[in-house]
Amino acid sequence: MRNTIPDIIIAIDGYSSTGKSTFAKLVAREFGFLYLDSGAMYRGVTLRAIESGFVREDNSLDEDAIIADLPALDLHFERGEGKTLLYMGARCIEEEIRTMKVSGLVSPVSAVAKVRAWVDAKLRSFSEGGRVIMDGRDIGTTVFPGAELKIFMTADPDVRARRRYDELLSKGQAPVLEEVKKNLQDRDYMDSHRETSPLRRPEDSFLLDNTHMTMHEELVWILGLIQGRFSLLDPPELSC
Ligand code: C5P
Repeated sequence: MRNTIPDIIIAIDGYSSTGKSTFAKLVAREFGFLYLDSGAMYRGVTLRAIESGFVREDNSLDEDAIIADLPALDLHFERGEGKTLLYMGARCIEEEIRTMKVSGLVSPVSAVAKVRAWVDAKLRSFSEGGRVIMDGRDIGTTVFPGAELKIFMTADPDVRARRRYDELLSKGQAPVLEEVKKNLQDRDYMDSHRETSPLRRPEDSFLLDNTHMTMHEELVWILGLIQGRFSLLDPPELSC
């Protein structure tokens, strides 16, 4: 029996816009974990490719140029107020990586095996010491196959599209619901069918379908899971 949650790695995988990062951020805050958003790293590589002219006019990628540029690419997280923010060198790129332009290109970029190897190595080095919660598409299968707790998230596609649409709207962008939905479908398809580390549910993961769940219910769910798994004597109180 323990008093506190041990220094474990929590791996969250799942489809696009299932609320993985919102959930992971909240868990990190409630239970004192470092949150790392692996998708942000792929988005960062994609932003760099766009800005450096490695994406051709027909949207095809100059993969050799993207790969050759990786050693010079400084992507890292810095802790902001209650969040972890992605930086490219000295520049915070959190906003730029969330545009539809980046969303439209990130799946092909993330399918490049050498890009994946580079991101994986970075993610592992950022996580040294453990007590990390990381979300993505291959965290429980490839980045941390030994993670002590694995969760696979899903939700109804229309609910997901609406959530992403509302999020973009709240950030001052002008999204079109049908385009947002199509982007989610396309990314899910590409992410599940690529050759290297495709999105799939780890066998030893717990399924979380949050279509009809509030954030509080999701937190209660994971707390129950952690309590059972690690025999916590004194589970933390939830603040929300
Ligand atoms: O999580 P987010 O939607 O920001 O991820 C953007 C894209 O990055 C995904 O659609 C996927 O193509 C890629 N990705 C990945 N592996 C991860 C995380 C994200 O391939 N672990």
